[in-house]
Amino acid sequence: MKHVLKNFDVLIVGGGHAGIEAALAASRMGSNVCLITMDKGTIGRMSCNPSIGGLAKGQRGREIGGLGGVMGRAADGSGLQFKILNRSKGKSVWSPRAQVDKRVYEQYVNAQIENSINITIVAGEVVSLLLTNNSVAGARLRSGECLSAHSVVLTCGTFLNGLIHVGERKIRAGRMGEEGSEGITEYLLSLGFVSNRLKTGTPPRLIADSVDWKKTNEMLGDKSPTPFSYRTTKFNPPNVPCFSVLTNSSCHDIIQEDLNLSPMFSGDVSGVGPRYCPSIEDKIHRFSARKSHTLFLEPEWENSNQIYINGFSTSLPESTQLKALRCVAGLEQVKFYRPGYAIEYDFFPSSQLKSSLETKNISGLFFAGQINGTSGYEEAAAQGLVAGANAVNHIMNRAPLIFGRDEAYMGVLIDDLVTKDTFEPYRMFTSRAEYRLLIRYSNAGSRLADKAYRHGLISENLFEMISKYFQISSRTIAAMNASLKPDDINPTLLALGESPIKQKCPAKEILKRPAVNINHLPLSVLGINDSTDCPSFLLNEMMMEAETTIKYEGYIKRQLKQLKQISKQEHKPIPIDFNYLKISSLSMEAREKLTFVRPETLGQAMRISGVTPADASVLSIYLSR
Ligand code: FAD
Repeated sequence: MKHVLKNFDVLIVGGGHAGIEAALAASRMGSNVCLITMDKGTIGRMSCNPSIGGLAKGQRGREIGGLGGVMGRAADGSGLQFKILNRSKGKSVWSPRAQVDKRVYEQYVNAQIENSINITIVAGEVVSLLLTNNSVAGARLRSGECLSAHSVVLTCGTFLNGLIHVGERKIRAGRMGEEGSEGITEYLLSLGFVSNRLKTGTPPRLIADSVDWKKTNEMLGDKSPTPFSYRTTKFNPPNVPCFSVLTNSSCHDIIQEDLNLSPMFSGDVSGVGPRYCPSIEDKIHRFSARKSHTLFLEPEWENSNQIYINGFSTSLPESTQLKALRCVAGLEQVKFYRPGYAIEYDFFPSSQLKSSLETKNISGLFFAGQINGTSGYEEAAAQGLVAGANAVNHIMNRAPLIFGRDEAYMGVLIDDLVTKDTFEPYRMFTSRAEYRLLIRYSNAGSRLADKAYRHGLISENLFEMISKYFQISSRTIAAMNASLKPDDINPTLLALGESPIKQKCPAKEILKRPAVNINHLPLSVLGINDSTDCPSFLLNEMMMEAETTIKYEGYIKRQLKQLKQISKQEHKPIPIDFNYLKISSLSMEAREKLTFVRPETLGQAMRISGVTPADASVLSIYLSR
């Protein structure tokens, strides 16, 4: 007999980055939320690296903040050093990154969850769902208790049938030291879902006192750091250094010799690992010509004696890990808190989802995070936020929150997930975003605030505050139409080695010169004054945003034109029960893939691997009939 413990609007299964954002989003939208997690003490745990953001990740950190999420605020509140990466490249791919104190980060996130009056935390393991006519109605715990709800979001991360490998040692677990989850995969398979196996890995944690720091290179963050969140008003992070060391041929030889002891090479691991975050044994095998690899020593928290060695993710036996690292200058006497390890887990290929992250099979059931085959905190958090919001939209019978590929990295991420085959952990790159010029980290607030406010994800106050910040940019852009006289600017141009102007010239034309940046211009002459209602760190960014908009004006116009041309096709809807098998002029591969994925729009159909432009045009003709 089922014992229903309590009724909720939304159940969130999992307290990782996806579960947290999902629970908080649903709570901000006014729902009565229950967050079920196997261990209350691990809510917000960072499974791997002590950092938030990075290449193509920082943009999502910002987007999550623009949608009222907690990740960016927690990074600002726990950051040890902040850096904008990719500065040598165009501003469209600049990405913020924060080295954080893992413990403070967890505490910050926990406080947000605990202080939300409409979130109840339940410790338990979900083993199956309650269903009514193909709609979700709740979840059943291993204890036999049931919780009822109108929507359920599964964010089980690496826990589903998780298996840890350290050399030949194998441990059933969800993460080191935490029990895995067994039963859900088998239950979902019985409902007709398809699952597969992936793997990811983490490096050893070093004892700081065993490192010879004199032999390492110090790396500091930016002198004028930029926070992630628009809500951060006081921001004075400490700029704690990280350090780097280099591997060498002796270290490589040891790894090469023991390659067959790594479960990745011995055939013990069947799951595929992340191509762009490879293990050290993978790097040494694949890039055998490389003489060395850089390893970064990062504190796990402030004054921590536990050091994360970024770049040395591995599943080699502990003795090999230690022997190889002891060949590296500075690590001759190194000792471990714990060795690196790999974990294999079940995931559900995400083409089984709609763009709202609701499953196509079961109404009201959503998947978010690593369960969808992604890897990374920001990938998980972004999906969690969208799934949590849509779990509420589902109950309220409202249109789902969906972002276009031209609107947000989150849009690119989810569109890729629902249209592409997942053979390896999915990770975001700026190169995946064809409209990356339009979706800069620095314009995340202006891109998303309106949608966030309309969906109830941010308060009116925050909406107005973000709008006010971006008005500084708009006013600056408008002021750049004014002309400067030769006397106003020629001394600066000559100092920059630029040719002087002979007559009055619009300021924006001068700014378009590659050597000129906005701070070279006489801003007071143009009537641009310091805004007192914006913190200085954000004011700099708003000025940079104005500069980027002007410098890239031509390219931005071109992308917008391109977008207009394809948007008609992009949004052409396809009925969910459309019968592709009867269209003989489609290739057999396209018929099979389209039948499996069941795309929602022609745009999605065109991006499915195996669907050629010729197939897309056949489909377009059928849809027009
Ligand atoms: P998780 O953070 O895994 O959280 C899952 C949550 O679900 C947990 O709270 C768990 O208790 C709960 N749960 C699971 N099953 C149940 C159930 N049945 N009932 C109730 N609760 C349940 N990312 C990178 O970007 N780079 C890396 O190098 C990297 N390395 C990693 C190495 C390891 C060893 C691990 C474990 C992860 C690594 N990641 C890495 C991935 C990153 O940590 C994850 O992508 C991200 O944390 C996933 O977030 P999530 O919310 O989906 O799941």
